Amino acid sequence: MTITQLDCLQCGASYDYIGGSSHVPECPDCESTCVSPVGKLHIEGNDYWSAPNGTGELQISAVDEHDRHVEFCIGFQRSSGKLTQITIEESSIQAQQCSVVWPLKELFAEQLSEFGITELINPMGADADNPTQR
Ligand SMILES: [Zn+2]
Repeated sequence: MTITQLDCLQCGASYDYIGGSSHVPECPDCESTCVSPVGKLHIEGNDYWSAPNGTGELQISAVDEHDRHVEFCIGFQRSSGKLTQITIEESSIQAQQCSVVWPLKELFAEQLSEFGITELINPMGADADNPTQR
């Protein structure tokens, strides 16, 4: 049995996830499935395009230990990238609306350097100190 601490991206609730069964992790507060991946995130691949002026988009897809698909969308301008959106299964959430922050720079270090992105702005948790905006 494993106990994993999960955070809900939608409402910021933290709770313990008990067990290793394959039921879909769901936030007990708001029933969102936009909760942190269970276990380790495995990066499966990425999609990349860029325009001649250096603007582009990098999409990184990953799966967690329950085979939930998580997709990260990073817009960039030359070497400077910014996380814009996270999609977990069918639900998308804007990065700046996420209540929690994930250490994505470390997680995607390989992908970012592969595409020459040296700077990553991660707006996750931007509203966390400002609950009146919810
Ligand atoms: Zn929630």
